[in-house]
Amino acid sequence: MKGTKKYSPKTTKKAIDTYKDPYLPKQGPHDMAVCKKCHTVYHNKRWAINEVLYQKKKENKKTLLILCPACQKIRDRYAEGFVILKGDYLKEHKKDILNLIKNEEERAMGYNPLERIIEIKDKGSIVDITTTHEKLAQRIGRKMHKACQGDLKIKMTQDRVTRVVWER
Ligand SMILES: [Zn+2]
Repeated sequence: MKGTKKYSPKTTKKAIDTYKDPYLPKQGPHDMAVCKKCHTVYHNKRWAINEVLYQKKKENKKTLLILCPACQKIRDRYAEGFVILKGDYLKEHKKDILNLIKNEEERAMGYNPLERIIEIKDKGSIVDITTTHEKLAQRIGRKMHKACQGDLKIKMTQDRVTRVVWER
């Protein structure tokens, strides 16, 4: 019944759920892969930060030494999150705010090691940040709003890109 399958709600939902990150490994789960750059480990179908496990897997000859999806995105500057911070308050509290953002990245990596900052461009009264994952851009925006109030706009698009603008 090819004709009806197309219109069933289940198929539609599945199509959304299975949207693949272009940087995730194309083959099924490979439990013997580690990132040679940041030492994240592919384990139990997800990437995790675990230095002990990294050392253990690295010694195994079957282990693939690769670049994890986050390190590939950083290398290619492939961003899914774009954050713009601006305003006089930003300028006056730049150092504290940049620390806050770096702490938020570390916290996010505890949940998902693939959420990283690609680049922070300090242009004076504007700071541009790009991230490997849209979630991290959202986290940074919410953190800024929580810690420093100001105006926050979060715009998510269908192609897994989030644009965040915070101003104070
Ligand atoms: Zn990596």
